[in-house]
Amino acid sequence: MEDIKQKAFALMHKMQDINTQLARQNQLTYAKMYHPIRGKLINFKQFPYLVDIYEDTAKEIVVQKSAQCGISEYLVNRSFFLTENSKLVGLYCFPAQSQLNAFSHARVEQVIKQSPHLSELTGETNNVSLREIGTSHIYFRGMQDIKQIISVDADYLMLDEIDAMRQDYLPIVEKRLGGSTRKLKHYVSTPTYPNYGINKKFKEGDQREWYIKCDECGYLQYLDFFKNVDLKKEIYVCKKCKQPINTLKNGKWIPRYKGREIHSYHISKLMSSRSSAKELIKSFKNKAALQHFYNFDLGIPYVITGSRLQRDHLNAITSKSDYDMKYSGERCCMGIDIGVDINLYITQLINGRPNTLFAGTVKDFEELDRYMNIYNVAMCVIDALPETRESKKFAKRFPERVRLAYYPSMKMDIYYKKEVRDEIKIVDINRTLSLDYMYDDFFMQKIKLPKNIESVEDLYDQLTALIRVKEVDKTGNQVAKYIEQGADHYAHARNYCRVAEAILGEYDSDMFRATPSQKHDRAFSGGNKRMM
Ligand SMILES: [Zn+2]
Repeated sequence: MEDIKQKAFALMHKMQDINTQLARQNQLTYAKMYHPIRGKLINFKQFPYLVDIYEDTAKEIVVQKSAQCGISEYLVNRSFFLTENSKLVGLYCFPAQSQLNAFSHARVEQVIKQSPHLSELTGETNNVSLREIGTSHIYFRGMQDIKQIISVDADYLMLDEIDAMRQDYLPIVEKRLGGSTRKLKHYVSTPTYPNYGINKKFKEGDQREWYIKCDECGYLQYLDFFKNVDLKKEIYVCKKCKQPINTLKNGKWIPRYKGREIHSYHISKLMSSRSSAKELIKSFKNKAALQHFYNFDLGIPYVITGSRLQRDHLNAITSKSDYDMKYSGERCCMGIDIGVDINLYITQLINGRPNTLFAGTVKDFEELDRYMNIYNVAMCVIDALPETRESKKFAKRFPERVRLAYYPSMKMDIYYKKEVRDEIKIVDINRTLSLDYMYDDFFMQKIKLPKNIESVEDLYDQLTALIRVKEVDKTGNQVAKYIEQGADHYAHARNYCRVAEAILGEYDSDMFRATPSQKHDRAFSGGNKRMM
């Protein structure tokens, strides 16, 4: 009898050893053994979609998520796992120090306190900004103060809520992995705008969606609020057979682009046991908070119509137009943006209003000379980047009529500033303000368009490619800026052209002296209605 007991005891020990071994190599086992949340170990039954994420060993992991989906715990657990078992140094970043302090207290500290294993491993240094785990450590930093980050070297990076961070700081933070052989990156956020922040990262990855199978018809599908919710019955249904579907059953992640190195996941509240179809419908019906519904409930980016120029605005102008594109002109203005091709936008000021004569592309800089002549261009503004040498040569061929354009950071209320540098005429342009003016002309129908201009390839797409968003600057203030949703060369070509018009100084005074912010908000708030 004693013998059996001893054997059983030995076996139990052996099992424990195996588990401990496994926990060193496998984050899921590690989490199940050592990671308590509110006194209980993580329960993956409530969050089946988390299992694969915990087991994912990709070098770069991106999660575009709704609110409260268990991902912050994942980041904390992954930090402990990597630091304890692989002895890696971690850098865990939040948008602001205040958020970080709260998080470090409430989440990180509680996990350590409640886990005997982690408590034992925690070294003497254990405060909100630095935690020793075993023989390595994790730095916790707020992104507001970039100086506190550039002194840190790390092996892995956790960026939590990147849409609330200054986007120009991201490459600076990523450089902190420069000295490491591992360079593991994790990006997590609720999305805001398309192609911005987490959504931009998500699109660079393999774009995984969580697929479940319908018990009735067997159709494999990922959950989409607009196809999987029966608004009348307030339940989840199958996309195909419309029978009720259990959204919490085991599913599988399927990437849209198999084989990409970056693994990117999309999590929505439809996958969560924490919110019902009824709650989501209620949130959807609150039209005043639609941005919130898309971002925080569905985990998808969203642009309110009206913060972007629409094709309808352009069509409203062309529908009143009485002329076609013109292939010559007198005293014209030209804006040139350099992309793969060279994009041109040409106008003629008539009674102080810009009449668009032509938009198109050319392949090389020499061709531009011809356009300077046939339109008798009086003022041309050309992108100084990325072909600075070619742009300079062009400017030297027409020293009185061409200026090189830059978008440096400038005082908020200055439209542009003329300079001469190295004997070349320059114009420094305030990016946000100039684009406000440029779009305002379209919203308010102050610019004329030829009635056949829609036929210019890519023109409409590129003119409407910029959206105006609010971003946090280094002092924590909200500032407006434009972010692109795709190629935007014609938008900048038109913007440079408008600066050329202003330099020529023949604007009607009302147009030139407009206060852009007031006018702009008016255009945005009323823009849609006017067009209907
Ligand atoms: Zn079905």
